[in-house]
Amino acid sequence: DLVKHFPVRRQNLFQRGRDIVHAVDGVSFDIGEGRTLGLVGESGCGKSTLGRVIVRLEDATSGSVLFNGREMLSAKGAALRALRRDIQFIFQDPYASLDPRMSVEQILAEPFEIHGLESGPARTAKIRALLDAVGLPAAHVSRFPHEFSGGQRQRIGIARALALNPRVIICDEPVSALDVSIQSQVLNLLTRLQRDLGLSYLFIAHGLAAVKHISHDVGVMYLGKLVEMAPKARLFAVPAHPYTQALISAIPVPDPRAVRNRTILQGEVPSPIDPPAGCRFHTRCPRAAEIGVRCRTEEPRPVELAPGHQVACHLYTQPKAAA
Ligand code: SF4
Ligand code: MG
Repeated sequence: DLVKHFPVRRQNLFQRGRDIVHAVDGVSFDIGEGRTLGLVGESGCGKSTLGRVIVRLEDATSGSVLFNGREMLSAKGAALRALRRDIQFIFQDPYASLDPRMSVEQILAEPFEIHGLESGPARTAKIRALLDAVGLPAAHVSRFPHEFSGGQRQRIGIARALALNPRVIICDEPVSALDVSIQSQVLNLLTRLQRDLGLSYLFIAHGLAAVKHISHDVGVMYLGKLVEMAPKARLFAVPAHPYTQALISAIPVPDPRAVRNRTILQGEVPSPIDPPAGCRFHTRCPRAAEIGVRCRTEEPRPVELAPGHQVACHLYTQPKAAA
């Protein structure tokens, strides 16, 4: 039931004060060992904030994050340092997340410095093994980030995330800044590392196409809420939430003659400062008219349609009409 609200200065000349951004508003899920949860949604839906709150790059407003039964959000001192080793982060932009003044060796030595682990030849050997694990030549260890391509830089970011033998990696759009031709190489690397090391991933992405191959389960977020969650194959075969259906119909198909029922969403995502009452999707939902006033006044609670498949939409909780 994770919540992250943050204050922003009001963007209004005539009214001073602060507004509250409802970035993450009561989100719950779990990720199994060795599994990938793909988390998708449009810009501003709260998916990156959620990832940052989990690793304590930002403080949660309320809620709980448990790792192997241990509470992350209140951990301090040695307990927090241990949890930080277990849960690592890969950033969206490999250009911005690597310090340009640091060599690869310095970048990869930093996690060991911070945690007081390995030194001397053991550390050098570890750094070489990390480069090998992500498919970069050990001879590149004294080079600087600008000497690498975007895909290679993201490999350095992945190597840094692996340095402390984590169990979970939060991947925040790790390939969306890369050329399409490079994206699948990096995704294949992440898949192989997961298989070899038993890692769990929270894989954050803008659209469903990006999580289709890498995920075991998929969650869909809209304006700070998780609106649907299902095993991947099920989500693509029988998407239940009108928003998920729209995201699926937005995935390009290779055959231009293919006939599909496309759902085109109207309008923009509303502001997370003042999200719509009732179902937050009601201002854009093509099915809201079927339900009527409930969509505008009552927040839909998640219901389970099948094992592991939850949806928050009144279409699935309407009283059945008498036969
Ligand atoms: Fe659409 Fe209503 Fe379902 Fe929300 S609750 S997704 S507005 S039908
Ligand atoms: Mg983001």
